[in-house]
Amino acid sequence: MIQRIRGTNDVLGDDAQAYAALEATSRRILERAGYARIETPTFEATELFARGVGASTDIVQKEMYTISEDGITLRPEGTAPVCRAYLEHGMHKLPQPVKLWYLSSFFRRERPQKGRYRQFWQVGLEAIGSDDPAVDAEAILLLAELLEAVNARGLRLRLSSLGTPATRAEYRAELQRYLRANEDALSEEVRNRIDLNPLRAFDADHPGTRRVMEGAPLLLDRLSAEDREHFEAVKGMLDAAGIAYEIDPTLVRGLDYYTRTVFEFTSDALGAQSGVGGGGRYDGLIEEIGGPHTPGMGWAAGVERMLLASQAPATAPPPLTLYVGYAKPEYRADAFRLAADARRAGHTARVELGGRSVKGQAKQADRAGALYLAMLGDEGVSLRDMQTGEQRDVEPDTVMHHIRGNIL
Ligand code: ATP
Ligand code: MG
Repeated sequence: MIQRIRGTNDVLGDDAQAYAALEATSRRILERAGYARIETPTFEATELFARGVGASTDIVQKEMYTISEDGITLRPEGTAPVCRAYLEHGMHKLPQPVKLWYLSSFFRRERPQKGRYRQFWQVGLEAIGSDDPAVDAEAILLLAELLEAVNARGLRLRLSSLGTPATRAEYRAELQRYLRANEDALSEEVRNRIDLNPLRAFDADHPGTRRVMEGAPLLLDRLSAEDREHFEAVKGMLDAAGIAYEIDPTLVRGLDYYTRTVFEFTSDALGAQSGVGGGGRYDGLIEEIGGPHTPGMGWAAGVERMLLASQAPATAPPPLTLYVGYAKPEYRADAFRLAADARRAGHTARVELGGRSVKGQAKQADRAGALYLAMLGDEGVSLRDMQTGEQRDVEPDTVMHHIRGNIL
């Protein structure tokens, strides 16, 4: 038997209902704030991700599904494609910022585990064309609202600012000097990564390293006056909106192009894969992919992880109003038409599709939770109210009238 590829999921039953509900909730929250839906292609030029996500990132270094002979890659994330579309459609001519949201599936070659898949879904937004701190605060607020609406449990919001790439480069050199000066107290692993990734030292559990890091210089203390002012404004607006956050000067988000604001929501209901969603400002990205300098801000949140972290009850499909059966095969076409007419009139209706006996059809109507069963036979239509058991013969073209009279 052929089975699905490890790290991919079939979405069915209650899960399918939950995905649909999450999409409806996302649409309501994001479109109310002026974000318009965008859907970009499932694959793009590999170059777009190599440049737009950043060559040094885990995504580009080891997680992309690339078809080399075609020069294409299955999208591992949504920001670079949306920025590409912004440029390609000349959206800089629209009032700025241009606000777009998406709900799509993404692909990363990762080791599959709970909450980590090779094809997964993200809902995300991008606001392109303004560096106003209100853009940052609004974006964060919208993700907070979405997570609240889906009842995500045990949430924490961590927030920081990365300044500009230049500030970051200077800070990195300063941190490397500091780590080298304290080399003897560091774990071997951290010592070996001073050149490659000095920031990882902040995540170490090793007691000696931790003591050293308590006195380490922080990027947040090295921000330029302008960047600091921007960050203060973002925090001020989050305070005004009543959003709780923790400042985490060690928060480093994966992508090379982040500038200024970065943030991440985690949920302690998730275990090891605790990241629910996050994002930040990327004022350098559009230039990186060949456009003019254009500021931008966005986030993405994992649909599977949001649902894992939430306690939202499965939403039930709409109740069935009418089940249409037939006593003899010669009435099958009429039954078929009656069900179609009922649906056209806005009711939920199903026709018998299993060739069951009259008794079997009644049972099936009951099992499906139908409010009414219309049985077509020699006497016309016998309409049964499934709740009261009351049954009467009605004219075929008055069935809808009787139903309507009874439910509304
Ligand atoms: P992680 O640290 O868990 O690998 P990330 O930093 O790679 O996350 P982003 O690229 O910022 O994640 O993607 C945003 C969100 O998308 C994550 O917070 C998570 O909810 C979800 N996500 C990322 N990768 C996966 C995956 N492989 N499977 C399921 N969800 C994922
Ligand atoms: Mg990852």
